[in-house]
Amino acid sequence: MQFLVQTAQALGLALLDQEIDQFEEYYRQLIAAKGRAGLTSVTDYEGVQRRHFGESLAVVAALYRARLLTPDQECDALDLGAGAGFPGVPIKIVHPPLRLTLVEATGKKASFLEHLVAHLGLADVTVVAERAETLAHDPAHREKYHLVLARAVAPLAVLAELALPFLRIGGFLAAPKGSRAPQELDAAAHAIELCGGRILSAETLPGPAPSPTLVLVEKTQPTPAAYPRRPGIPAKRPLR
Ligand code: SAH
Repeated sequence: MQFLVQTAQALGLALLDQEIDQFEEYYRQLIAAKGRAGLTSVTDYEGVQRRHFGESLAVVAALYRARLLTPDQECDALDLGAGAGFPGVPIKIVHPPLRLTLVEATGKKASFLEHLVAHLGLADVTVVAERAETLAHDPAHREKYHLVLARAVAPLAVLAELALPFLRIGGFLAAPKGSRAPQELDAAAHAIELCGGRILSAETLPGPAPSPTLVLVEKTQPTPAAYPRRPGIPAKRPLR
């Protein structure tokens, strides 16, 4: 995990030995399960450290820098479309007081996440095999989170409708985005407003190119009960 340790250091994060062991175990579990659930196309040791673990840590470092989260702070977080656990699980490893809900629509991926969380010995992590469109109308989850994380799930206009309903007023959506971030931001402006959000910032994350842009959206108003619409509709007919 030398590459990850260096990346973390450059981000101002010192990994504990136990955390390094957890990342090592995470890598082993990912490789053991690959192919079975279509979890990731990146499987080489350095690639996983860079693209999956390192990028996830860059997100939490950015939240610390922006003072949206302080080290040791308790926080209710939801990772929407967690897939193989990115970015939520690496963030949980380095920020144990996080109470993390991993939402993943695909049953096989959700099963992997259950298995992973047990193997890593992570406390306060819940896996929910459900679509965001459905879960966001469940009173146990609606407007209950301080932080929603989502990487590579949907364009921002769609993500706004899926993610903002989960946030409390004053909570944040943190979404790493690729090179099309500026266009996605433009296209999402109205959807974000409709769902009760406000764009806070969009900054390139530190790290080797191509570095993602971290889009931060603050929840400022309640989301109207009509959102999100039925499963599949947000992606099919994005709000505009
Ligand atoms: N966040 C992970 C996985 C990205 S792939 C990463 O960055 O590596 C996108 C994942 O989101 C897929 O696993 C897919 O099943 C899930 N997903 C897509 N739309 C969803 C929805 N509406 N509700 C819940 N999960 C969803």
